Amino acid sequence: MPTFDAPSPQATKYVFDFTEGHKDLKDLLGGKGANLAEMTNLGLPVPPGFTISTDACRAYLAAGAVPEGLDEQVSVYLDALERQMRRKLGDLSDPLLVSVRSGAKFSMPGMMETVLNIGLSDLSVSGLAQVAGDERFAWDSYRRLIQMFGKTVLDIEGEHFEEALEAAKRAKNVTSDVELDASDLALLVDAYKAIVREQAGREFPQDPREQMDLAIKAVFDSWNTERAKLYRRQERIPHDLGTAVNICSMVFGNLGPDSGTGVACDYLANAQGEDVVAGIRNTLSLQQLEDLDKASYDELMRIMKVLEGHYRDLCDIEFTIERVKLWMLQTRVGKRTAAAAFLIANNLVDEGVITPDEAIDRVTGAQLAQLMFPQFDLASKPNRIAKGMNASPGAAVGKAVFDSWNTERAKLYRRQERIPHDLGTAVNICSMVFGNLGPDSGTGVACKTCVCGAEELDVDTKARKFTAPNGVVVEEGDVISIDGSSGLIYLGEVPVAPSPVVEYFEGRLGADSTRAGELVRAVHRIMTWADEKRALYVRANADTPDDAARARRFGAQGIGLCRTEHMFLGERRTLVERLILAEDDSERVKVLAELLPMQREDFVGILTAMGGLPVTVRLLDPPLHEFLPDLTELSVRVAVAEARGEDNEADLRLLQAVHKLHEQNPMLGLRGVRLGLVVPGLFIMQVRAIAEAAAQVAKAGGVARVEIMVPLVGAVQELEIIRDEARAVLDEVTETTGADIRALIGTMIELPRAALTAGQIAEAAEFFSFGTNDLTQTTWGFSRDDVEAAFFSAYLDRGIFGVSPFETLDRDGVGRLVQLASEEGRKTRPALKLGVCGEHGGDPESVHFFHDVGLDYVSCSPFRVPVARLEAARAAVRHPRG
Ligand code: ADP
Ligand code: MG
Ligand code: MG
Repeated sequence: MPTFDAPSPQATKYVFDFTEGHKDLKDLLGGKGANLAEMTNLGLPVPPGFTISTDACRAYLAAGAVPEGLDEQVSVYLDALERQMRRKLGDLSDPLLVSVRSGAKFSMPGMMETVLNIGLSDLSVSGLAQVAGDERFAWDSYRRLIQMFGKTVLDIEGEHFEEALEAAKRAKNVTSDVELDASDLALLVDAYKAIVREQAGREFPQDPREQMDLAIKAVFDSWNTERAKLYRRQERIPHDLGTAVNICSMVFGNLGPDSGTGVACDYLANAQGEDVVAGIRNTLSLQQLEDLDKASYDELMRIMKVLEGHYRDLCDIEFTIERVKLWMLQTRVGKRTAAAAFLIANNLVDEGVITPDEAIDRVTGAQLAQLMFPQFDLASKPNRIAKGMNASPGAAVGKAVFDSWNTERAKLYRRQERIPHDLGTAVNICSMVFGNLGPDSGTGVACKTCVCGAEELDVDTKARKFTAPNGVVVEEGDVISIDGSSGLIYLGEVPVAPSPVVEYFEGRLGADSTRAGELVRAVHRIMTWADEKRALYVRANADTPDDAARARRFGAQGIGLCRTEHMFLGERRTLVERLILAEDDSERVKVLAELLPMQREDFVGILTAMGGLPVTVRLLDPPLHEFLPDLTELSVRVAVAEARGEDNEADLRLLQAVHKLHEQNPMLGLRGVRLGLVVPGLFIMQVRAIAEAAAQVAKAGGVARVEIMVPLVGAVQELEIIRDEARAVLDEVTETTGADIRALIGTMIELPRAALTAGQIAEAAEFFSFGTNDLTQTTWGFSRDDVEAAFFSAYLDRGIFGVSPFETLDRDGVGRLVQLASEEGRKTRPALKLGVCGEHGGDPESVHFFHDVGLDYVSCSPFRVPVARLEAARAAVRHPRG
């Protein structure tokens, strides 16, 4: 190990020798640096070097200049490296050369590409030639340096260098670079230097340290390239991590037939399913290596074993053999497809390498979600026309539209084509066409299936068409298919095959049936372990018997949110109109009596579908005007009738009601519990329908467990009034029917005041369900519909938040309210049942938070239930509950 002059104690330590780090320092040293250090300390042959920390990058980006002390520390470490290697960087007779490699915590596209051979110059190139005994090799290395440095550090278009190379070959009348000899390459170096002079307005730096420093800065700067930023947004990688820079002494795989370079376990990049796991140890290149150089091959096999034993996982490696000596240049736990992740975790358990708990932790909810998307049937040989970034998985077919999702024209188009607002396909097409502008250029990041950044498409929004690289022209209305998992875009309608994993969850494909493949068996096994492990129950948000049944098949242990507003729509709308217009109690009572049996039937259906599992029913929540006709439409109708002299008494009264109920800010208006208090009999009718439905189910021999949930409570007094009325109805129905009705009465916590006074509210509530959508809106003062499209992308860009608080729970703000309300509520009522029914209930990161604060259950959309089950288990593996 080299020795270091300790940097002054008050300065931040920015530089770490490979011997000083280890694999768990990825935040500080980046993934590449941490693993180079780990390998070094395992005694594996890694070319010596050092890593400049992400702290340095952050300081550089914050100040726009190299932080104080960094240059000095680099000098100290470079000095030590030179002593260890017994060579000086760029020395004239025997130069030490290094590579400068970016390496963030997560590998990401858009970061600076590695520059090799730093340290070569007009003078040291001869030294290298002499030491290597190979003139051609030295000049080739030098011209590569100028080319790479020019492109990545000096931002010169690569074409200039490629043209010069072509010209050199033409001049010699050869077709391949290998046929260029040392003197050709020396001439090429001159040409390259001229390109640098013209394009960058400066000489190619001859001072090796200046080369190194410029490359380091270029790595720092590359953190903020558009491509890197785009990738981080999609992968929800925070923008403030920064990247590390690795300085690694060069080893050469191009020194003749006894040298070479390779990668292993890259098999995962392009493979799927079992092929992946089966093919690991005998990729062709490695076999050939065994014949060529048995010693290096054996050493490589030994090292791969060491790494897999040490990381207890399959590892990707990069290696180089320099004159029969093997060097390790990189390792990381192998990147893998979602399917491979499940297969590998499952196999490692079988091999006794990891435990089932670790297997749970080796896969993610996001990977499971990927496996649940439908896939294109590639056997149909679809016509592939382009590739973009795989922004949001899934397979979608639709017509090309050349508008942003929210323009009036796009809205009109959707109305004409009867495309519902939440339908994935239409969103996709929009996002795809706007592909080269990025995912949130008007279409929203949250769309279901999305391919963006399809730069190879030549989009002409004026002419409303795009041209693919192969010349195919797609005009507005033409059908295309996009694969959000691979980023591929196809012409025409590609048939879609259902996901076998969904078939399994649906119960149509048994895990031990012969039709089920390895993948389904692996998913089944890991989900079984997960269900045993997790502490959180998982429920679903479902409003209809069909949804409820599907949720159950997907493993839901109850319904956490059954909305009742749909029970007032359709033909029942006229009843609601009558209810709103009712001038006296008797009319109101009559209408409610008509609604009662309809609602009772709805509840019987849902309770029956859930067969004894708890069902949380939310009493009516939205403002009443949502059930009335649109103001403009109605005004027109009234005006027309008036002009014709027709009788329009009913419409006139309706219009008055619409005016009366009109609110500036409906989200904060007459809704939730406020409705129940203001419209006599409304909530009571709903409670009666629930109670009678439960009694009916019980009479039929079933079990009904209902939890009646009062929305938008801000003060315990509101809840007390409703609770007393509801209890009275429940008691009465129990008495008259003789049925055993098990009903809890509780509330949603979706206002900051409710959270802050949770201790009081718990006196009247038997359960809390955190409505984190509204709680996020009211905590931030955001109206989701208004703010998401208006400025969220700016907020994300400027780092105000890393991800939208509507996607992942804002722990620091909204999360604190959840935690406080949980604690204070349980202080009042230790048996208080706690759950969450906002969309966050199906978001992996948020699920971990809900586990950590001790909720009893999360509830999410039926399709997300398996994801929540898995993530709840992963949370329990990481933080077991006492
Ligand atoms: P990436 O992150 O794209 O994998 P790397 O830094 O690993 O970038 O480097 C790109 C290529 O250069 C790889 O093939 C790597 O093995 C090689 N390389 C990097 N550093 C050295 C070095 N010091 N000596 C020889 N080859 C190197
Ligand atoms: Mg690499
Ligand atoms: Mg709400």
